[in-house]
Amino acid sequence: MLKGKTAVVTGSTSGIGFGIAVALAEQGANIMLNGFGEAGAIEALRLGLERDFGVKAAYNGGDLSQADACTALIAEAEAAFGCVDILVNNVGIQHVAPTQDFPAERWDLILAINLSSYFHTMRAALPGMQARGWGRIVNTASVHGLVASTGKAAYVAAKHGVVGLTKVVALENAEADITCNAICPGWVDTPLVQAQIQARATAVGGTVEDGKRALLGEKQPSKRFATPGDIGALVTFLCSPAAHNITGTALPVDGGWTAQ
Ligand code: NAD
Repeated sequence: MLKGKTAVVTGSTSGIGFGIAVALAEQGANIMLNGFGEAGAIEALRLGLERDFGVKAAYNGGDLSQADACTALIAEAEAAFGCVDILVNNVGIQHVAPTQDFPAERWDLILAINLSSYFHTMRAALPGMQARGWGRIVNTASVHGLVASTGKAAYVAAKHGVVGLTKVVALENAEADITCNAICPGWVDTPLVQAQIQARATAVGGTVEDGKRALLGEKQPSKRFATPGDIGALVTFLCSPAAHNITGTALPVDGGWTAQ
């Protein structure tokens, strides 16, 4: 379905981002990976995509807390593959602390990575999409783009910002065949939530599995984690012809969290 298209997926050396990269490569898209990690492990991921799906895959290690690195990521993908047809903004970090104790530098970093990088990459990728008259932008927001939880001032502010930014870009490009949507996952079992699982395990005086049960039981009625593959499948659908009229939405994948 996506053969010959190019997809940039930010924060794709791990977790949800890599799940999205796999799903898009499975549909034939060439992939620009981005994120941190050990060089050998990242090269194995890149080679695995090329081997398993017969696509081209490249890697950019830019630190997306920096605006210049966001612009350079898009430029590098355009130079390597000729264009960027699909942009998945997925990079994100977390820090949990009450607002009065929240370190100001963590606030700045979370806003830069979880929100501003999404603006900088879209700003760089949109002219090419507009010139070619086709584009798909998917932003990984969160249930925390729709509702709040305690201890997550920067994350909740950034994710609500992503939902708003998504709507603006959708409206500005509504007449072109360029859509922009946000996905709002509840709990997905990835490295990003390991510290929160461990904190919950400690609080209940139990194992990691007890920590997971406590985390899910509090907010996610399905009591099941979503998987990176679940999110990848939704991104693939949003890139399909059937989704051409879905734009400006914030789609929960949250086991009923935000239905409560
Ligand atoms: P993860 O920690 O597994 O992956 C984060 C990725 O971002 C990694 O590839 C990491 O190397 C990269 N990264 C971090 N800082 C970076 C930087 N400055 N520059 C470039 N790359 C950087 O986390 P995840 O759970 O897969 O999260 C992916 C996205 O999904 C995030 O936006 C997160 O907020 C969102 N999300 C996660 C959950 C969940 O339960 N895991 C729920 C809702 C939303």
